[in-house]
Amino acid sequence: MSEWFEWSDAPPGDFAVIGDPVSHSLSPRMHRAAYRKLELSFAYHAVRVQEGEFALAVTQLAALGYQGVNVTVPLKLAALEWCKTNDAGRMGAVNTLNLKTGAGTNTDGPGFMETLRALGQAPCKTLVLGAGGSSRAVCVSLEDAGFEVSLWNRTASRARELVSAAELAAEVIEYPRPAGHGLIINATSTGLCGESLQIDWLKAPSDALVYDLSYTDGHTPFQASALECGLKAVDGRAMLVAQGALSFEWWTGLDAPREDMMDAVL
Ligand code: NAP
Repeated sequence: MSEWFEWSDAPPGDFAVIGDPVSHSLSPRMHRAAYRKLELSFAYHAVRVQEGEFALAVTQLAALGYQGVNVTVPLKLAALEWCKTNDAGRMGAVNTLNLKTGAGTNTDGPGFMETLRALGQAPCKTLVLGAGGSSRAVCVSLEDAGFEVSLWNRTASRARELVSAAELAAEVIEYPRPAGHGLIINATSTGLCGESLQIDWLKAPSDALVYDLSYTDGHTPFQASALECGLKAVDGRAMLVAQGALSFEWWTGLDAPREDMMDAVL
């Protein structure tokens, strides 16, 4: 667990990650590594902000001199409502704010796509599991890039709502069957509590890429089960770094030192 502050006790600083919980966030380590590499004298803190306290908290942080915040669960919708302008579009949530201008953006979707490009993944039939905020950013970005999405969620009605709200072409499916999908993405939060979705990996194409947005020490349960069946499987650490790097660049206009940021979270 790393150092974190309640927003009402936050020290002066330049940037922060805000959300609840934030005690396990790797963002401070990652952004401080970037500042060290580029010899920037910014301070980055983890600040706990509970749902309902968003506007008070960001007003306080702005008064303390903070220039921007990364926004995590459960505040991404509050951030969208708070900002004066944003380019999140159909992603429907904001994870990065400029507290000086009131502008917001979403780096989750573009960060995810950056990692897919790095893996050499071409557009293909894709199965997305989960219909929460990160699924929405990922599905919109995938469809914009020409991927054909099938969407499964434990609560099917939420998947249908997502398709409608984000104006997706995705088909909502009843069972998470991997057959015929070149890319299979876990965007559920099951990994957070050590559970794993039961997927019949033997039915997946042998060259499929399995991508778990979650990350933990070692392999996530979802990733491990796919690896055991001989599939290529990655976790969400590279996405964490990519979305953080894009936030850094959006705030500073500088190229983010991605390798140093990745080393800081390994
Ligand atoms: P969210 O909005 O809370 O959505 C949670 C999703 O998980 C819902 O679809 C929910 O289904 C499903 N779910 C929860 N428990 C389940 C279970 N036991 N079995 C099946 N489905 C279950 O969460 P989120 O913000 O989208 O985040 C999802 C995951 O992505 C988290 O693990 C988060 O850490 C990760 N993430 C990673 C990055 C990164 O940079 N790597 C960025 C963003 C998010 P119901 O609708 O049925 O409840």
